Amino acid sequence: MPKQTVRDLDVKGKKVLVRVDFNVPQTKDGAVADDRRIRSALPTLKDVLDRGGSLILVSHLGRPTGEPAADAPFKLDTVAAKLQELIGRPVEKADDTVGPSAKKLAADLKPGGILVLENVRFNKGEKKGDPAFAKELASLADAYVNDAFGTCHRDEASMVAVPEQFPAEKRAIGFLVEKELKILDTLLKNPKSPYVAVMGGAKVSDKILVMETLLKSVDKLLVGGAMTYTFLKAQGHGIGKSRVEADKLDVARNLLDSAGGKIVLPVDHLIADKPEAGAQTKVVDGPEIPDGWFGMDIGPKTIELYAQIILEAGTVVWNGPMGMFEVEAFAKGTKAVALALAESPGVTAVGGGESAEAVEKFGYADKVSHVSTGGGAFLESLEGKQFNSLKVIPDR
Ligand code: ADP
Ligand code: MG
Repeated sequence: MPKQTVRDLDVKGKKVLVRVDFNVPQTKDGAVADDRRIRSALPTLKDVLDRGGSLILVSHLGRPTGEPAADAPFKLDTVAAKLQELIGRPVEKADDTVGPSAKKLAADLKPGGILVLENVRFNKGEKKGDPAFAKELASLADAYVNDAFGTCHRDEASMVAVPEQFPAEKRAIGFLVEKELKILDTLLKNPKSPYVAVMGGAKVSDKILVMETLLKSVDKLLVGGAMTYTFLKAQGHGIGKSRVEADKLDVARNLLDSAGGKIVLPVDHLIADKPEAGAQTKVVDGPEIPDGWFGMDIGPKTIELYAQIILEAGTVVWNGPMGMFEVEAFAKGTKAVALALAESPGVTAVGGGESAEAVEKFGYADKVSHVSTGGGAFLESLEGKQFNSLKVIPDR
């Protein structure tokens, strides 16, 4: 059943509290390094403003431990300034979340106005899901919208206890969450075959549950990235100095044994004498990594094999880079997989912090069907988890 969306809310002359995920990467001096999460919320924000509503925006940023004054990098000022630039309207910024500054600015808010509250995680009640804090926050607005997909797997106050303060007909999801749920629905319930998963990244341990779940529905699961070497070691091969999770060999072996041949491992590797720029590199065929060398990327034959499988797929879901793509010399595999997804006629979805960053960096973000704004939320959704933050939003 589809959820009630912002479209269903009467917002004219109303103050709408929108929980957004403006937890953006920042530069060393606190500027917004990547504004994708802010841009992704714009359709919902514009819809409310265009229909005569005003906006009270709530977000977290990082994990602050102190007070706003001492913890300046976690304040939302640069984020509010970036939003003002992107939306092309004045944006006001409160110095607190439920204190005198927020209360005054919220009370004075006019139709078309935008108010960004201070980082919600400065309040101890947020992490605890405290109902008293939620009540105070909810009292600022007339309706609630969840457009924070990247935070949907969390039970924090602004995600669950705050919407619970509003009558059911005044709670909704935003267009970003709607879009994320739609693609997840396709991946979970309605994938067109052949259905191909591509998994890579740092650790098998982060992805075991997703892999187990996906193996029930995919036709093939292509493996790359550092997790490759845990699988190869589990099969008894030499992996040199490659990154490995020595305590996960049993898990890797079990996954291989239960996968019914669906797991595809790289057939060649790009190896290096050190895991950094300027390293000496070469390609090795087969499953053995020579002593003293690091496996850093999938090799050219694997690139060709994986690209072919992806190009023939009806549905592709990708999480986890194929190598240490941050270093140019080790980026070929990740770049090639991104290109294959871009060129594949199937439904193609990418999720995960670094995976999304890679697709963006290589210029393919607009050429795949969907780049999720969620890392943990995307993976947990693929595991089949149901989130409390969405349970509190009624179906239409
Ligand atoms: P995501 O955030 O997309 O879920 P992960 O966090 O699991 O992805 O992993 C991303 C990281 O894995 C990248 O920063 C990348 O450098 C690293 N990585 C991938 N392949 C290797 C490798 N062969 N050796 C070392 N690190 C790797
Ligand atoms: Mg990551």
